[in-house]
Amino acid sequence: MTEALPERLDRFMGRANAAYYANHDPFGDFTTAPEISQMFGELIGAWAAVAWALMGRPDRIILAEAGPGRGSLMADARRVTARVAPDFHAAAQVHFIETSPRLRTEQAKRVPDAAWHDDLSNLPDGPLILIGNEFLDALPIRQFRVQDGQWAERHVAGSDFVEISCPPQSGLPVDEADEQGYLERNEPAEDFVTSLARRLAAHGGVGLLIDYGSAQNPGDSLQAIRSRRMAPALEQAGEADLTALVDFGAVARAAQRGGASIQGPVTQGAFLNALGLMPRAVKLAAGRPETEAAAVLGAARRLAEPAAMGRLFKAIAVTPHGFPPLPGLAA
Ligand code: SAH
Repeated sequence: MTEALPERLDRFMGRANAAYYANHDPFGDFTTAPEISQMFGELIGAWAAVAWALMGRPDRIILAEAGPGRGSLMADARRVTARVAPDFHAAAQVHFIETSPRLRTEQAKRVPDAAWHDDLSNLPDGPLILIGNEFLDALPIRQFRVQDGQWAERHVAGSDFVEISCPPQSGLPVDEADEQGYLERNEPAEDFVTSLARRLAAHGGVGLLIDYGSAQNPGDSLQAIRSRRMAPALEQAGEADLTALVDFGAVARAAQRGGASIQGPVTQGAFLNALGLMPRAVKLAAGRPETEAAAVLGAARRLAEPAAMGRLFKAIAVTPHGFPPLPGLAA
């Protein structure tokens, strides 16, 4: 028997997730905020309308979403803007950045007038509002371990980790390593944010990124979710969703490298509460049968309460320098 050659963790994760998203309905395995409640997309739609007004109400605006999943967030946002912000609604053209053909089909059912792209660089020029919910956490990470000044990078061989020594990595904050000495780097996330920042600085607009994450390097945070439970990360590649915490410090530095500013990060709970989640929930629940009303209020709590999604998930905006304060992002 020949032993499998070690593969760098990010290459393994990229391959595993591409297979996973191509062949599965991920929403059987995990639930995201827009799938918990329509209120999430509605509030982000209203947020986008305010962002557009702060941009000076351009006649045409690219309303893009990266990794839109089932398309629920955008469908909920569009339904609200048609009613409460008709000028913004008419100015907005929806563009989706999505690599999974299977999910593109799902998205087309809910937002038939969208245009699809593989990558941020394929979006047309012009002012942009870009939303990304749980997009960065699915992108492949590298992991390093620093012990006594010696660096090693984690690889995967079969279903085991192996560590291969490597030169010190500049730009990674060693003082943020976890107790075992691990540090993570999400290069595609950093590249995405830097490209977004360059584009916003050149053409105007804002980006809103919401993800589960930490203020600084998370150390070792790789996890696999299958059937709503934690699963082993390295076994049965392509059968579970592999994610890692997003390092919001790294996101902020990536935005600044691209010539943009940031607002936030703030917790998802603070963000949604500032946008009026609870009054919206009460209004939506009013007049419904008791169990339905309770479900609406329960969903709002799940999104915003610290012990549920409210604290672990965070929101950050990327803007051109000098952009006025956006709703919900004041720390
Ligand atoms: N935003 C959605 C889905 C999150 S799951 C929600 O909140 O429900 C991650 C999404 O990102 C999926 O739609 C997946 O197909 C997409 N995705 C993953 N990697 C991608 C990549 N490199 N480029 C574009 N889309 C990607």
